[in-house]
Amino acid sequence: MHKSQMLINGELVASLSGKVEIIRNPANQEPVAEVSVGSREDARLALEAAKAAFLEWSRTTSTLRADLLHEAARLVRKRSEDIARLLTMEMGKPLKGSRLEILASADTLDYYAEEGRRNFGQWITSSNSRSIVIRQPVGVCALITPWNFPVDLLAWKVGPALAAGCTLVAKPPSQAPLAATEFIKAVSEAGLPPGTVNTVHGPGGEVGAELVENPISRKIAFTGETGTGKWIMEKAAKQIKRVSLELGGQSPFIVCADADLDKAAAACAQRAFNNMGQICISVNRIYADEKIADEFTSRLVVRTKRFKIGSGLESDVDLGPMASEAQRQKTKEHVADALRKGAKLLYGGHEPEGPEYENGFFYLPTILSGTNHSMKVMREETFGPVAPVMKFKSLDEALALANDTEYGLAAYVFTESLKTAIYAAERLEAGGVGVNVNSVVDMQAPFGGWKQSGVGRELGHYGLEAYLEIKHIRVGL
Ligand code: NAD
Repeated sequence: MHKSQMLINGELVASLSGKVEIIRNPANQEPVAEVSVGSREDARLALEAAKAAFLEWSRTTSTLRADLLHEAARLVRKRSEDIARLLTMEMGKPLKGSRLEILASADTLDYYAEEGRRNFGQWITSSNSRSIVIRQPVGVCALITPWNFPVDLLAWKVGPALAAGCTLVAKPPSQAPLAATEFIKAVSEAGLPPGTVNTVHGPGGEVGAELVENPISRKIAFTGETGTGKWIMEKAAKQIKRVSLELGGQSPFIVCADADLDKAAAACAQRAFNNMGQICISVNRIYADEKIADEFTSRLVVRTKRFKIGSGLESDVDLGPMASEAQRQKTKEHVADALRKGAKLLYGGHEPEGPEYENGFFYLPTILSGTNHSMKVMREETFGPVAPVMKFKSLDEALALANDTEYGLAAYVFTESLKTAIYAAERLEAGGVGVNVNSVVDMQAPFGGWKQSGVGRELGHYGLEAYLEIKHIRVGL
């Protein structure tokens, strides 16, 4: 069985307590790997190692850091098949999705290898002095990530942190630490000085909490639930630590009467059900113009029925199991709540039938119509494969409904009119708006949330800035 240890100061180590846990495949609950489970003491050791490595790493040139990051990307690509299989086995996503995730993570390292060279300053001329503005690495960073994209979301942090000259301790999610750890190992083996990258496994409330509370970490980069993000922000406030928080979402998808309905239905089905809806920018609420709502919804059902469901390791599978029984239970509860309050079930709403599904956390992609804002599916983050449709009469009504949420991560609008697209995009309260596309992720552009979906931005040059402090050097003449 695969064994996953922690990486501290360049060495793979077991936890100080010797505690281990078994990670099981959510498709059949068979054991996949044994993981060392750390505690606050292990986290402290990792932070000390990152602190000791900081002086040397922060003084390396951006050219050297670029070379090492490119080499890290090469190693991740070389090992991508093995890492992808681990990812599928620990959290269920189909292998084709896992492969894309690992390759995208390597691309992110390549991108930040080059973006790190663009750490520019300023020269300001005054009458009796000159002001030089430079940007320097924040210091030791704690990177805390969730289980739904455990490698990609870590790469979004590791790439810019290292490019900026920061050292780091990564805390992968307890329920899916395997692929993330292999990714960190590959980065370390690219030739980084020991202690530059470290990883500690263990419970968020213990290992994660130590990384947040220990004064050694100067910045916390976190992706996860809004509730956890609030806790981290409170603790960070006590030491005025820098935070980047990528939190929950409840993304609206508006279909206007003039939309290309086939394109909209395909995009909607893919973004509502991919990764079993366990994506922060999943389509969570669909608002369709009443003139086309029934036609759009029937095309959405047709598209959804085509998905092949099964264990992620089988070929051609589109949808795997959910990552855990807890996720499936929450989804069932939200669907039951909607049905109790008058929603109509158009597809799914239960587990698929057959012996191959019996031991896994499978659930059919589910489409509901006749939904409204009294239902949990429209108000809370289900983080499951549910697509609830609601009709609207005017675009302003749709926009008001779309903005009627504490979240503000992604929003989508489908229309053939440029004027409508701009009108809607400017009014939607979200960090990313997709017009006739079903994703707001582009490595070169900022990603992040408004309102309770987060603070700060990842990706693009903004992602690098998040790991840099500004210094003004005033030279008297
Ligand atoms: P989570 O908040 O439970 O856990 C995320 C990470 O935080 C894990 O590594 C966990 O161990 C750690 N953690 C838990 N408690 C902690 C504490 N007190 N201190 C420090 N660390 C702690 O989230 P999850 O269930 O793993 O992930 C799903 C959530 O992540 C969803 O809400 C989803 O929307 C969100 N998410 C957001 C984005 C985004 O970019 N905005 C992307 C993916 C997922």
